[in-house]
Amino acid sequence: MLKVEHIGIAVKDLQNANALFTKLFGREHYKIESVESEGVSTSFFMIGETKIELLEATHPDSPIAKFIEKRGEGIHHIAFEVADIEAEMKRLKAEGFTLLNETPKKGADNKLICFLHPKSTNSVLIELCQEIKL
Ligand code: ZN
Repeated sequence: MLKVEHIGIAVKDLQNANALFTKLFGREHYKIESVESEGVSTSFFMIGETKIELLEATHPDSPIAKFIEKRGEGIHHIAFEVADIEAEMKRLKAEGFTLLNETPKKGADNKLICFLHPKSTNSVLIELCQEIKL
């Protein structure tokens, strides 16, 4: 793994959270993006080399809605950048970790992503991401 690419924070209201984090960071978000397949609207802030991703559910069955129902708002996942997501998925699977998807899927911010099941990672939801080269 190369670095912490971003930290995902589950929020109930993206507009309110966006205003709060803009004040906190002293800068504006650089991107708002919806990923309908994941049921989320996202807002991204760049802090040095690491991004903060705010995540709001777009419907009640969204994983973010379920997370907030169970655990409340707060840190949802940590995303690590990898050079070769398929190789890393294969390596982690062989190490006994549970992947939430068997093949990489398209995430926000021009990334291929894969999540690891929190049951296999000390209850921390971990995302692997690799930038899609255009
Ligand atoms: Zn993420």
